[in-house]
Amino acid sequence: MTHRGVLIGCGFFARNHMAAWAELEGVEIVAVCDTDAAKAAAYARDFGIARWGTDAAALLAEIRPDFVDIATTVGSHRALVELAAGHARLVICQKPFAETVEDAAAMVAACAETGAMLAVHENFRWQRPIREVKALVRAGAIGVPRWLRLSFRHGYDIYANQPYLAGVRDLALTDIGLHLFDMVRDLMGDIDRLSCEVQRRNPRVAGFDAFQALLRHHSGAVSTVECSFHSVLSPDPFPQSLLQIEGDGGSIEVTAGFRLRLHRAEGVEERDVEPPCPVWGERPWHLIQDSVLAFQRQAVAALDGCGTVEPSGAHNLGTLAAVLAAIRAAERGTVERV
Ligand code: NAD
Repeated sequence: MTHRGVLIGCGFFARNHMAAWAELEGVEIVAVCDTDAAKAAAYARDFGIARWGTDAAALLAEIRPDFVDIATTVGSHRALVELAAGHARLVICQKPFAETVEDAAAMVAACAETGAMLAVHENFRWQRPIREVKALVRAGAIGVPRWLRLSFRHGYDIYANQPYLAGVRDLALTDIGLHLFDMVRDLMGDIDRLSCEVQRRNPRVAGFDAFQALLRHHSGAVSTVECSFHSVLSPDPFPQSLLQIEGDGGSIEVTAGFRLRLHRAEGVEERDVEPPCPVWGERPWHLIQDSVLAFQRQAVAALDGCGTVEPSGAHNLGTLAAVLAAIRAAERGTVERV
């Protein structure tokens, strides 16, 4: 059985969603929607989709899809998720899920009421190096994880494809910080308290394009998470997240160039964790593009009745709460409980 989907938001990033849906078996995007007719029509043409429209409510009522993939920017998420909850078995929403916990909780409640599964498109935890680290940690390769450093620093011009980012006040925390906090929660468990410092590094942007956060987890583990969009590095590791995680029985490092090293008392094992470049992909975006494919693959499995989609909207409430706590901590110079 082929699951029928509608994609809403035909902008820069959703081209990756569309290419990945086309590659996956058992699923088909049957209509695309954008308030900008020219963008919806361009997607329909480029991806061979028969139906396109500008009014999501009318399109969903007509198509009655199995799933809705929302790839718009954050301001439209609540209205679209609440709408989709009444029309589909699975609703996927791009990050940032919401700007406030109130909006996020309303979306979770709307889907709970209709019984629709709700997932947030947090693809970073689905990146191949991160999945390999998680598998090693879950298998006990380093013992109980006690400390982590996660670093996303680059000088790639992100404003060329996403010009709206230059006007976002808490840019680094709400754009990539959400991904990083989701990865840290996935690897180290929930966050108890945190402190955070932000910086405006690039004089051409309005917001804080760098942050450094110090996290204490409920387990007692400690993590440091950092991000900068204005670092001069050669070669530039964009869009790789570099990581070091320590347990009492060993450590794992992921370094630039997709090298994973597992350190244990008996020595170090090194391997290449670079993902393949999809046929529709291009470097250096293949890391992200492969993770979109992995994220969407589990969505197809969930539609088939096998498991849920990670992370759920309910889980993402905790990630949003952590990022909002980091914004408060940076503003006030305090340690904030999450
Ligand atoms: P974009 O502005 O290029 O595209 C968004 C599109 O949504 C626009 O074409 C806009 O017209 C349309 N839209 C807005 N409201 C709508 C509505 N109510 N109904 C129908 N269409 C509507 O933005 P983008 O750069 O593609 O980013 C979209 C989202 O994806 C953002 O939330 C961004 O944070 C996220 N994103 C995620 C990743 C990732 O790796 N997960 C990467 C880049 C962007």
